[in-house]
Amino acid sequence: MEVEVPKVFMKPLLVPNKTLMGPGPSNATRRVLDAMSNPLLGECHQENLQIMDEIKEGIKYLFQTQNPATMCISGSGHAGMEAAMCNLLEDGDVVLMGVTGLWGNRAGDIAQRYGADVHYVRARCGYALSFEDIREAFQTYNPKVFFIAQGDSSTGVLQSFISDIGDLCRRFNCLLVVDIVASLGSAEFLMDEWKVDVAYTGSQKVLCGPAGITPISFNQRALNKIKARQSKVKSYYFDITLLGQFWGCFGTSRIYHHTVSSTLLYGLREAIAIVCQQGLKNMIRRHIECSYRLQKGIENMGMEMFVPEPNHRMSSINVIKIPNGVDWRKVSQYAMNKYFLEIAGGLGPTVDQVFRIGLLGENATEEKVDLVLTILREAIQNTSGITLNERSKI
Ligand SMILES: *Cc1c(COP(=O)(O)O)cnc(C)c1O
Repeated sequence: MEVEVPKVFMKPLLVPNKTLMGPGPSNATRRVLDAMSNPLLGECHQENLQIMDEIKEGIKYLFQTQNPATMCISGSGHAGMEAAMCNLLEDGDVVLMGVTGLWGNRAGDIAQRYGADVHYVRARCGYALSFEDIREAFQTYNPKVFFIAQGDSSTGVLQSFISDIGDLCRRFNCLLVVDIVASLGSAEFLMDEWKVDVAYTGSQKVLCGPAGITPISFNQRALNKIKARQSKVKSYYFDITLLGQFWGCFGTSRIYHHTVSSTLLYGLREAIAIVCQQGLKNMIRRHIECSYRLQKGIENMGMEMFVPEPNHRMSSINVIKIPNGVDWRKVSQYAMNKYFLEIAGGLGPTVDQVFRIGLLGENATEEKVDLVLTILREAIQNTSGITLNERSKI
């Protein structure tokens, strides 16, 4: 044999235990990790199908929806975005992307690859979209699909009045797609009541599950649009009509579509079980309270949040302006090297401008908030020589 055995495989796998307080992934709880060490099952084994059915019920609770077409995509959050776009869109369809940071642009990139005629309505960086902006853009473009991220993790902007956008979409005979990857579990979201047609979330953000399996739900309006397609969905893997059969969403017999990782199903089921046992409302409240504590701490140190309007701040991803004279890379490295704590920099429109601190799931606790504040302060002072205000008691 010409290619030799790589020596590295003579050593065992070693993974450090880090505190993940960036924008995701979050730390999976012990229960989730344990669940994932269960034996593997075949994807069509009765026990595996049962777990899939339970996960569907869990997602319906998390999304507050009765949609039968509720399932998971095998892939990370991006796969949810891709599945939403490729099922709803055909060549030339006009789609409008609400942009409050990176994710509206990303959805636009994806939609364009599927042949759509993509337009954008952009908020000022750090601000949410106003209803007026959206309504005017609807009048200009008359879109068939409108996309918005409830929480944009690059800017930390939380888009409110989604239910008003839902009403607007009905008036314009437009479908509403909402990205709840980074916000679900940290802000209220009522899929049916708000008339959201497609929503998908991330397993590895607030839910603290493994990455690579993405809950998604389509309502009847969305399915009608898919049924009326002139052309096949351009992706086999993400075709909701086929995938939904496999997930048992349409009352027809379940047909193998692809091998869903049973390991990821176990992890996601356990992550959902933890939310169900806590109660969604309690979980949301805890995130809001912890974020408030963090924001107070940041302001007490003399720093500023990136999103000026407090009601438009996400509680899961907290975005902080970098003070003058501070190098975020050094701060981030300091926290990682000394404490194995992740503090992230910006993304997309906020690169080099902000720190991003995730309070995701099990890291949304008072202790973790105080820990990250203390380390952030030390890291800034030690890497820049700047003295921050003493943090007064919160
Ligand atoms: C993280 C994130 C995504 C992408 O998720 P991946 O799992 O990294 O593919 C999409 N939308 C938002 C708002 C996110 O925060």
